Amino acid sequence: MTWRANVFTIFPDAFPGNLGVSIVGKALLEGRWQLNLIDLKRFPVKSDRIDGSPCGGGSGMILSPLVFEKAFDSLSDVDRNMRRIYFSPRGRPFRQSDLVEMANSPGITALCGRYEGVDQRILEFYSFEEVSIGDFVLLGGEAAAMVMIEGCVRLLPEVVGNGESLIHESFSDNLLEHHQYTKPRIFKELSAPEVLLSGNHQQMDEFRENQSREITRKRRPDIWAKYIAQKIGCHSEED
Ligand code: SAH
Repeated sequence: MTWRANVFTIFPDAFPGNLGVSIVGKALLEGRWQLNLIDLKRFPVKSDRIDGSPCGGGSGMILSPLVFEKAFDSLSDVDRNMRRIYFSPRGRPFRQSDLVEMANSPGITALCGRYEGVDQRILEFYSFEEVSIGDFVLLGGEAAAMVMIEGCVRLLPEVVGNGESLIHESFSDNLLEHHQYTKPRIFKELSAPEVLLSGNHQQMDEFRENQSREITRKRRPDIWAKYIAQKIGCHSEED
């Protein structure tokens, strides 16, 4: 079955955006994954309303559960049963391991909020996972959806040509990636490390691994702690 992302949005024109370029865009054109956009504006309640003011007062508008219900019911059984994701600054930050799981499933069904967000009963009744792309507030969930989908699609078999590059990359083994260099050998008096030009593969691997460790230890003590725990054979609670 072709991997598929269903996306509920009031701005379908924001797509494919990032998802239409480069490897991911080419794979979309070739039908190696599918993007199903559901325009929430097509499912108004009463005359033309898709949202309402917050119960209890406050600024902004909230997506109506009646609108979402109609939109959700328009999906096929298969799409209705996919993992449900709501993008929200209140959500759990998602990680590479989440994307690996999603890429290994039939697909995801994602809801992009706008304005003040969505009625809580949508999230509860339909069991949405609330996820965030970071501790900041955007205007809508569309950019977050593109981030998640791009991250999943590049993990699909045959989408990224060189499978090796997926194995040795940041987060894959609780280490961030080493530095990268290309020609020329010297740029503005900065030389690419001699060892990488030596042709000695064992030394190059060791050099890169040490550099990865050093970078992870300094930049991301949280990931470094997981790496150490993995090395000594115990696992943190999060894993
Ligand atoms: N009133 C909300 C923010 C609404 S922002 C609050 O204070 O929590 C409007 C929409 O943008 C949200 O419904 C969500 O879908 C999206 N959004 C904003 N920031 C986001 C983030 N950091 N991660 C994921 N989605 C985000």
